[in-house]
This record gives sequence, C-alpha cells and structure tokens, in this order.
Amino acid sequence: MTRPARAHLVRSVLFQAAVRLFRASALQEFRALRALERASPAHLAARQDARLRAIVRWAYDTVPYYRRVMDEAGVPPGEIRTAADLLRLPVLTRRDLKVSLEDLVSRSARRRDLASTETSGATGVPVRFYRDRRTFPFDQASLWQTLAWAGVSPSDTMAVLRGNARPGTLWYRMTGSMYFPAELLFNQDAAATFALLERIQPDFLYGHPSRLHMLARMALTADRPLRLDLQRIIYTGEQMREETRGLLSQAFGVPIFGRYGCKEFSGAVAQTCAAERWHITTEGLVVEIGTGGPGERAAAPAERGRVIVTDLRNRVMPFIRYEMADLAVAGNQGPCPCGCTWPVLGALEGRAAEYVETPTGRQVPCSMLQRRMSRHADLLWEYQLRQERPDELEIWVVPRDHVGPEMADVLVAEVRDLLGPSMAVRVVPVAAIPRESSEKQPVLKTRPAPAERT
Ligand SMILES: [Zn+2]
Repeated sequence: MTRPARAHLVRSVLFQAAVRLFRASALQEFRALRALERASPAHLAARQDARLRAIVRWAYDTVPYYRRVMDEAGVPPGEIRTAADLLRLPVLTRRDLKVSLEDLVSRSARRRDLASTETSGATGVPVRFYRDRRTFPFDQASLWQTLAWAGVSPSDTMAVLRGNARPGTLWYRMTGSMYFPAELLFNQDAAATFALLERIQPDFLYGHPSRLHMLARMALTADRPLRLDLQRIIYTGEQMREETRGLLSQAFGVPIFGRYGCKEFSGAVAQTCAAERWHITTEGLVVEIGTGGPGERAAAPAERGRVIVTDLRNRVMPFIRYEMADLAVAGNQGPCPCGCTWPVLGALEGRAAEYVETPTGRQVPCSMLQRRMSRHADLLWEYQLRQERPDELEIWVVPRDHVGPEMADVLVAEVRDLLGPSMAVRVVPVAAIPRESSEKQPVLKTRPAPAERT
C-alpha cells in the first residue's frame, strides 16, 4: 500500500470512530437518508407532504407573519395538503426578512434553539435570520448524502476554495480538509499554492468556479507541474462557465460536479450525480419552479422559472416559499441512470437579476452573452461584463498572452446583435478582474447593482 493510501485508510478509520462518538445523530440521519435513495417517488412525496402539513400548521399557529399572510390570502393551513398547494401562498422575499424579522420568529421557539446567521450578501446587503439548532445533525447528514452522489465519502480530504482561511470544524480537522487561503489564488502565487495543496493532497476541490478558474489557470501556466492525486471537483455558489469547465478539464482531467445550497436552509438543495443530473433533496425541503407573475403555476418539464424553496425542518423561523435569486429549468421526472429516485431539475441558470438592459428597455439575459463569450475561450483567461452607463457595455478582459488587439473586434462583433444599436460595446483589456469583497465574482457588474435597484 502506498503512503497516501495508508494515510487515507488511517484517517478513514479514525474518522468513523470520531463520528460515532461525537456525531452519532448525524450518522444516524445520514444512514436514513441513504436508505431512501431508491424509494418510490410516491413514497418520497408522501413523506415530504406530511412534513409540509406540519410546518405550515406550526407556522400559522405560532408565527405572526404567516398567520397574517395566510389570513390575507384566505388560505387556512388545513388547505395546504401537498407541495402543489403551496402556489396558493405568497412568496417570502429577502425584503420580507429585513422588514419582518421579529414577526417571522416562532412565538414558541426556545432561545437556545435560535442560531443567528446572515445571508451571504452575494446579491446585496447581508440579511439576518435564524436557523434552528436542532436541525444541525440533519444538515450535516444532508451534506454528506449529497456529496456521496458525487462519489465523495465523508472521510475524504477537501480543499475549499471559497471564503477565507479560517479554523475548520471537527470534521475538517479529522479529514485533513482546509479552507484554502484566498490571497494565494488572488496573487496567482503558484509556488505557495502548489506547496500547500501538495502537502494536504486533497481528494477533491470544493469551491466557487471563479476561484477554481484561478487555480486551473495557475496549473496550466506555472513553470512546474502541480502534483495532485485529485479525484473530483465540486463547484458551488456561482454558475460554471464553459470556459472554466474547459480549463478545469484540461488542468485536472477529473469529473466535475455542481452543488446548489443556500445558507438559509436545512441541508443541501441540489447536487449533480454521476449522470450529471441535478437531484433535488426532498427530506428537508420543497423546491418549486414557478412561472412567476399573476396566475403563477408550476413550470412544465423543460420550462424555465424561478426557484422557490420551503424549509421543512426549521421551526424557530420557518421559511415557506422563500424566493431565491436563481432561475431553473423544470426536469423530466423519469428514472435517472444513477439509480437515485429523487426528483431532478432540468438545469440551473444564473441569478434572476442578471441581465443587461439597453436604453430601449431591451433585457438581454447574461446567460446568452456568456454563451457567445464562451466561443472565444481561447482568446482570454477571464472576463467581466460591466455596465456603468445605460448606453454602454464594457467587457473587461484578461487576454491570453498570444492575443493581439484584434480580439476586441471579435468580441464586439459577437455580442453586437444581441444588444442592438442603442448600446455601445467597448472591450477593456485588464491585467486582472478586481475581486469582490463578497465571496462571489459576478459575471455582470452594474451600477447600481440589480439587487439594489429593487
Ligand atoms: Zn442521478
């Protein structure tokens, strides 16, 4: 047995022992979740609906906000029988969290169960909310379960490319996992980055595509190879751009999985499986894809809509129909080749607010511009769309070394027809795209930012 393999085995045995001692309830929840992965869709839906009825009743009885909105909507809690009935209730927005925080807390919540938290702030100013401490073992179990869909075992070592370096949890310490220092990536410090990664030898990388992109770029351009025995890459928090996926494949050649979560909820929301489908979790949440607007209905398979999530477990501050800033395509609910019976999304798309608005009022989704830009991944390392004036879009570009000034004409020609004649397009070559103080790196920067416009 090689040294890394032996170290891995030792760590795995120690990890199992530690989990039995300190995280017994999470382990139990994890096994229960795994046991349900081949249950019939009807069985899964029945379990989900039972939890939904309970949380809606609890919210009506003990949370002033829900009593008010359900009374106003004329929908008594007993009429919410299944997930399909949720459409009769209004959505909960981030603005509601801000305005009605105290009214959203259950009058029957015990102080010691309230875990004060803030939203990530990626789409605006962070907003305070409360998680329910009693769900933490389930949250852990759900994380392990969804990572298992990507072939990751709880004792695997991960390098986390998001946030800043900070002390890890017990889990991190036991598995040798770590938060990777962001500064090393931002400074493109290949020597220090490679030395650190080669020391911890992660089984998988986990992080935001923009940071994975920086690492892949270093791995492809440094004057010495990065020696890792990497098994897989899992991204989260941002959309995976095609050019980033290409660079990652070229640099590491391992399978890439997507993960969709949100700090507000108990457990994971969705995760891709070996068959590259987004499975939704049903034991902690209800995920709806709604068409939006008056007369909203559930999106049909292949139809696009807004993502709305109900948390079935948080009783201190129930989230019922919380509107996410993301769009998704509803999935076909047939069997998945991976064997898991949990429902699927067709696709996850960029944040709802991401579009470029031209002086004539035309709204061009960022995803369309991204698709055009991705045709020219060979010209550039990265880019950002910036709209500071209503009639001009700037494309900030970090060009590849061999690329000359003619790149600007190519890129302008590519997006010109999407934006129409009222919009000037200018390519601005830069050495680096400025990093945001929040964790995520937006594809589009507008002034004012879309989230602040509302
Ligand atoms: Zn699957």
